[in-house]
Amino acid sequence: MKDQNIKTDLTKFTKSTFRKWHILKWKLVFTNTELVKKEIAQVRFFTQRILFNEIYLTKITENEQKQAILHEVAHVCVGTGGHTKEFRRICDEIGCTQKTSILK
Ligand SMILES: [Zn+2]
Repeated sequence: MKDQNIKTDLTKFTKSTFRKWHILKWKLVFTNTELVKKEIAQVRFFTQRILFNEIYLTKITENEQKQAILHEVAHVCVGTGGHTKEFRRICDEIGCTQKTSILK
């Protein structure tokens, strides 16, 4: 699949996930500069964005991409803080199996 098609798919997936969990104003942003190489995705609370590292549009599977996004969505739900018990509970609720840091 072309990068642009993957981006479109992941954006749709993220939007429907945000809707499902009543997350307002947040956006998924693709970047090739704001993350270090090994990071697939990251959450930015101040600007309300989930950043997705463009390097991983083709390097990992669609399921891995979606799990990375769900991991960040769980962070959005919980608020600032790490991989706490509450974070892991939210992961279970939203169907995220990636409960630790998501580095490649
Ligand atoms: Zn995390």
